[in-house]
Formats: sequence, structure tokens, C-alpha cells
Amino acid sequence: MKIAVSSCLLGTSIRFDGGHKHDRFITDELGRYADFVPFCPEHLAFGTPRPTIKVVIDQEIPMIVSNKNGADLTDALQKTSEDETRAISQAGISGIIFKSKSPSCGLGSTIAYLPNGYAGGKTDGMFAAMCKANFPLLPMEEEGRLYDPWLRENFIMQLFAYDDFERFKASRPAMGKLVAFHQSYKFLLQSKHELSYRRLGHIVGNLDKLSFDEVLDLYESVFKETIGIKSSIKKTRNVLEHMAGFLKMHLTSVEKAVLHEQINDYANKIIPLIAPLSTLDMFAKKYEVEYLLKQKFLTPYPKELALRSDIRSGK
Ligand code: SF4
Repeated sequence: MKIAVSSCLLGTSIRFDGGHKHDRFITDELGRYADFVPFCPEHLAFGTPRPTIKVVIDQEIPMIVSNKNGADLTDALQKTSEDETRAISQAGISGIIFKSKSPSCGLGSTIAYLPNGYAGGKTDGMFAAMCKANFPLLPMEEEGRLYDPWLRENFIMQLFAYDDFERFKASRPAMGKLVAFHQSYKFLLQSKHELSYRRLGHIVGNLDKLSFDEVLDLYESVFKETIGIKSSIKKTRNVLEHMAGFLKMHLTSVEKAVLHEQINDYANKIIPLIAPLSTLDMFAKKYEVEYLLKQKFLTPYPKELALRSDIRSGK
């Protein structure tokens, strides 16, 4: 999997002051499963070190202005942002991680100044805004928000599901494979948005007799939108209960009680999600319930990332 990342987060000394903002989760943990495509539109435009810049919004039009002399640098940063956008789009990436608060890279956390010099709220950096416009379905997040275990778990799940779909599409599948793909994502999609899961089921059902390419295109856009929706403890609890239903006829009364107690404890934020999921996984293996064992929801990303072991990963 390839992920585009702000160069300074990878430890490259490329910030305005010649420093970096190395992020260990990205390089040391995510880096075990991904190749990085670095970008830095400011370095391309102004070199390193360089005077600082800011976003000024004048009558709803964002401009890039030098903090040193007030010069309008919008065109220069626009040009290198376009160059970087082109470069990452050609690299076949499955997601982007931006450096927060930057006039170029911030994703909703950049201060927007008013022409009078006062802060007027938060906005996107120029490059991040361009990426949002060009890649509306691509997973993207800023490193600052990834310190929140819930946002981190949701983002990593989205990233791996997106990459999985890209690989699936590249395998030149036929209808039968799409049905199997959809079934394997049943519980993950339900943990995001039940109605979207059903909509995807109708698309796969193809009552309108569309060509397979049309079905796949439609499926792709709804699938990618759905995996971008944040899950919640309530939705996840419903999914766990639903999965437990597939084991109903196999479990002893003690096993059932243990499983339901764990699901309740998860819903009450006493234990993390990994606890009831491990129990479900163990029972599915014990009773050879293949349908459950094929579910991506059990292991949506490498288990070594251990993101579901954190009690704060549920909200
Ligand atoms: S422009 Fe982006 S990548 Fe470059 S130093 Fe600033 S935040 Fe980092």
C-alpha cells in the first residue's frame, strides 16, 4: 500500500526553520505495511529554510501571504501544490496523511486570518484543499487528529479497506467475486452505516441489469463513501450481537453468557473492542463458522497495530 505523507512527518528536515515533525506512529508502525510518497509544496515553491506564510481570507477568497513582508505568494504555492497533486495522483496512493495547522497541509486546522490581521477561524491549507477537491473519496487525515484513538482506528480501517478494494478491482473480478467481496465486508459496512450496506447489497443484486463495469463503478463510489463514515459503540454493539447470532445454535449456555457479558462490557466502556471480538473469533474457529471467519470486520488491518486494544477507540 502507498500513502502520501507530508515530508516533515517522515522526519525530513524541510520545515520553514529547517526542522521536521517526525511522527513515530506513521514511520515505525504504519511504515511496516506501507510505502510512503512524500510531498512538500512549500519546499518546492520557496526552498528551505524560508520565511513563514499564512492563509488570509479576503471576501471568501483564500490567499497565501508572506509573514515577512506581506507579499502575495498565492500563485507560487498554487503552482507547486498542483505539481505535488499530480505527482501523488500518479503514484497510486490509498490515502494521505497531512501535517496539521500548516498553511499548505492543514486539514481543517489551519488558521484563516482576516485582512485586518485577526484570526477568523479555521480552514484547510492550500494543498490539502486541492487534494480534497481532486480525490474526494480518498482516505485523508492529519497527524494531529490521529492522536485520538477513535479517529485513528476509523482512519486505519478506512485506509486498509480502500486499499483492499483497489487490489480487488485490479484483479479484474467478475460478478461472483464482487458478491463474495461484499459478503466479506458485511459487518464492517454495517458498523459504519446500515442503510449504505443495504444500498450496496441492492447494487450487487443488479435488478436494473446494468453491465458489470457499471455495477462495479457504482459499488466503488458507495463503498468508498461508506468506509469513510465513523463507527460508534452503538453501531458496533449491534454488529457484535448480529455476529453472535450466527453462533447461537452452537454455543453452550455458559459460552453464550460469556459472550454477551463481554459485548455488554464493551458497550459500557469497561473493556476494549478486542475482547468480545477475540471471543467471537475463537468460537467461530471452534465451531467452524466459515461465514464469520471470512468477515473483514474481525481483522480489518494487521492485528499488530493493536488499535482495538485501547478502551478509548470506541465512542
Ligand atoms: S509544507 Fe507541509 S510537508 Fe512541507 S514542511 Fe510544511 S507541513 Fe511539512
